[in-house]
This record gives sequence, structure tokens and C-alpha cells, in this order.
Amino acid sequence: MRPAVSAVMKSSMRAAVVEGPGRVAVRTVPVPPRDGRALVRVDQAGICGTDLKIAAGSVPVAASRVMGHEMTGRVEVAAGNGRVPAGTRVLVNPGVFCGRCDLCGRGLPNICRNGGLLGRDLDGCFAELIAVPGELLHPIPDSLPADDAALLQVLATCVHAQVSPEPLRTAAVVGLGVTGLLHVQLLAVRGIETIVGITRSAWKRDLAARFGAGVVAAPDDAAEAVARASGGRGADLVIECAGTAETLAQSMRLAGPGGTVVVFGTTAPAADGLPTYQWYYNELTIRCPRAQRPGDCDEAIALAASGRVELAPLVTARFPLAAAAGALRACEDPTQLKVVLDIPAVQ
Ligand SMILES: [Zn+2]
Ligand SMILES: [Zn+2]
Repeated sequence: MRPAVSAVMKSSMRAAVVEGPGRVAVRTVPVPPRDGRALVRVDQAGICGTDLKIAAGSVPVAASRVMGHEMTGRVEVAAGNGRVPAGTRVLVNPGVFCGRCDLCGRGLPNICRNGGLLGRDLDGCFAELIAVPGELLHPIPDSLPADDAALLQVLATCVHAQVSPEPLRTAAVVGLGVTGLLHVQLLAVRGIETIVGITRSAWKRDLAARFGAGVVAAPDDAAEAVARASGGRGADLVIECAGTAETLAQSMRLAGPGGTVVVFGTTAPAADGLPTYQWYYNELTIRCPRAQRPGDCDEAIALAASGRVELAPLVTARFPLAAAAGALRACEDPTQLKVVLDIPAVQ
């Protein structure tokens, strides 16, 4: 275990910041003030679609915002309320919550009225150090390999999204990127009888089949594949993971009467052409899960530690923090799944 506090705590650090729309630079910035929060040394940070939107300026952020919200690291200085001691390896829940508002009181800290996302509303984790409230720290076993740990936050959002009525016989996942492939695995862990994975990409269909999708199909063949797999009933659950109006409409068509559609991909604000009559006629439940709750983080860690989900194959590239701009560009490459930044400072 490392010493609780570095012998000499530096006052500055390297971080990837948004300088303006389309401009990301790695700079020297002050170490964030603790103010009773924990100081965590970032080990690795994943890049996701939200980061790409922030970098491009389509999700606006304050000037010089430190990017990043998917991270694991090690507690350097414990929070004032000290529940997680210095030296502990942790997943940081990037969804800051107040713990006092009505929504937090209803067990919905993921949509807290006073909350925010690290790397968007507050400085994030594409940095050597990050200061976060103690409530956001979730210990992870040292035995969990880095490639598995890199996906824990994403897995937590998938865990959060998979609440749905039982029994489920047929479930379909539309879009098989990182989150779609995680959803296939979670459905397999849940023991769902028939899992249908849908994507244009043949290599992603192969991965989905390996992860437990008994049926895989290209989008044009999806309706027939789901009909055949469900004996004509349609899917009981469809998880939309591509984030387009077209895939959301398709998901609503693939769901059978009484089915649930989980809108997991963040769809464009105006999604025209949705089959709203079918939505009514089949009495579909449309669920829009957001982020993750603290318990989802712990469940994701337990799942990863148990080896019941495979995370490492989803990490396809690693870059040092200094190459953050190049790492963001690499995310546009359709042959990549999760791109991860390795943060530790060059001493
Ligand atoms: Zn993300
Ligand atoms: Zn709150």
C-alpha cells in the first residue's frame, strides 16, 4: 500500500481541458482544493460519447473544464468524513448528488436536483488528481485487472438500466458497442432465455454471440429474427444502445405487446418518425434510465470481481494522458470499442 499522503504534495498537475469547441489541450493546472473532499489519484479514465460531445462543443461546458467521468484510481487523501481510507483503490461514481433534496430522498440520487456530472458540470478525471465527495467512492479489489476496472462505471449504468418486469423470455439489444455488449452479458447473467443482438457490424455480432446472444442479426433482418426467436410474440424487452431516432423506432417495433423499451442510447432531442400508435397499441413501457446510483456501482464491482461478465475484451486502445486529443479522435474509428487514458504522471 502506498503512503497515505505523498511526501511532497505537488501544487500543480497535468490535465486534459476543453479550451473551446473542438479544442482539447493537455495543460498544467492547479491541484483541485479538497474542501473536505477526498483527493483521488487517477489511474485510468475511459472516454465515452459524452466526452466527444463535450470536446466538440455540442454539450457546452465552462471554459477550461477538466474533462472525463469514467475513472478508477487510488485515494490519496481521505475525505473529511473518511469512510474510505487513503490507499484504497476505488471506482468514482461520477454522478455528484446532494443527499438532501426530494429526489435523493426518494432513492434517486442519479437524478439529484442539485447534482452534476464530473467532467461536464464539475472538473473531471482526465487529470492526475481529482477531488470528490467521499460518498462517490466505491472500493474495488486490488485483484481486479486494469482492463476490467476500466469499464466499471459503464457497467454500473447498464446495471442501473436493467430493471424490468419479469419474467422475460426474449430480450433484444439494438446497437452492439461497449454498452450494447455489456447489456448482452447482463441479460445472460440474468438467465434470459433468448437474447437477440442487432448491429450492422459482423465482428460485433460475433462478440455478442460469444457473450451470450443466441441470435444475432443485421438491422434489416432484425424483425424476422426477433419474430422467429419469440415465436411471433415480439421481444419482452428491447434495449436501445445506438442513440438514433431510427434505432429507437426500430426498438419500439421489435417490442411485443406489454413489452418494455429501454432508451439507453442518448437519443437526439427531436426524434421524428417514432411509431407512437404502436407504442400505445402494444401498451409499451418506455424507460429512460440515467447514469447510476451508488448501489449500481457496488453491484458492477461485485459482478466484475466474480468474473461473470467479461470486460477486458471491450478495451481496444490505451493512450497516455499527454495524447488525450489523439485518444478522442481514435474514438471516431468504428473498429474501436472502449478507448482508455492511462493517467499516472511521468515522474
Ligand atoms: Zn460515459
Ligand atoms: Zn439531491
